[in-house]
Amino acid sequence: MFVYADNAATTRIDPDVVKAMMPAFGELYGNPSTIYSKGREAKEAVNKAREQVAKAINCRPAEVYFTSCGTESDNWAIRGIVKHYAAKKGKHIITTNIEHHAVFECLKALEKEGFEVTYLPVNEEGFVTAQQVKEAIRPDTVLITVMTANNEIGSIQPIEEIAKTAKENGIFMHTDAVQAVGHIPVDVQKMGVDLLSLSGHKFHAPKGVGALYVRRGVLPDNLLNGGGQERGRRPGTENIAGILGLGAAIEKATSSLERDMEYVSALRDRLIDGILKNIPQCKINTPSHHRLPGTVNVSVKHIEGESMLLLLDMNGICATSGSACASGDLDPSHVLLAIGLPHEIAHGSVRFSFCAENTVEEIDYILDVFPKIAQRLREMSPLWEEAMKNDI
Ligand SMILES: *Cc1c(COP(=O)(O)O)cnc(C)c1O
Repeated sequence: MFVYADNAATTRIDPDVVKAMMPAFGELYGNPSTIYSKGREAKEAVNKAREQVAKAINCRPAEVYFTSCGTESDNWAIRGIVKHYAAKKGKHIITTNIEHHAVFECLKALEKEGFEVTYLPVNEEGFVTAQQVKEAIRPDTVLITVMTANNEIGSIQPIEEIAKTAKENGIFMHTDAVQAVGHIPVDVQKMGVDLLSLSGHKFHAPKGVGALYVRRGVLPDNLLNGGGQERGRRPGTENIAGILGLGAAIEKATSSLERDMEYVSALRDRLIDGILKNIPQCKINTPSHHRLPGTVNVSVKHIEGESMLLLLDMNGICATSGSACASGDLDPSHVLLAIGLPHEIAHGSVRFSFCAENTVEEIDYILDVFPKIAQRLREMSPLWEEAMKNDI
């Protein structure tokens, strides 16, 4: 059996999305910046996709800017705001210590350029509070950036309350909603944010296309300089195929959102229950509330995450140990350390992430294979032997 359980890393492109993209590989080849009908056709198609995105997140089409990915959206939002407003407002930024690398590394670079960043600690379930944000605000705070949902453990932050605090203090608010869009309701009016990042490949559109919501009147500096595309704010000839895919995917995901959330949550809960029942000494790192429907992060004590992944792969199961960008380096995930896991337990962690394409049979297959893998590795692990001795 083959089970794709890494939907937080990327998703399969939906066949309906492929269909929506096909015109861009055929007759829809005009450059949207040209004035003849071939170009206008392409421009109309891009603007239709813009309307689909706007409808899905409840904003005006003119507030949606297409980008090349979630990483670009995050970098543009953060860098664009602080560069434009630092002279007037100051050089202090507030964030959390569990952000995605796209936010984290951007802030690290800004620190080298003279900006100051406060990294708020999360609690053991992976949450920050609006009160923490409020206490961190200074007269020179220019931007608050807090992710909507975490990619490793699935915790969902109180964005509405944090944005309210930001607004009361006249500070811009950005959220990285890349894991949220297409998976939980995302309404920029209700959330009250000024900027929001999203990425197509996390909800069954292709890789290499994203969008940034920018509230009307908010003016981030451009990241790129060039032509007049995207109302002069994001130059570069449009990725028409990707944009059409993003539009179709966000519309489809939103139309079945409630049903999918219920279905995927049931898969998640079945896996968590089964793991707790069948694997002794493990810890679920995903919180028990305010969490994504499809994310399960588990630490299996006294064994290595990487060896579990290899054996899962040999059994046809795709999962990950930390975020895709982090695997390959030896440090345990900063998110798992942030929720207070000791290094050795953080190292023994696996993330499964599901979507509506996954089935109950797949969950049961994981529950058949995974406990055997854990047991086999523990039998070979000196750490486990030691732990068993100490228990007696
Ligand atoms: C995947 C992801 C990103 C990066 O998006 P790309 O389109 O892959 O650049 C940013 N933030 C979060 C939370 C993500 O999960």
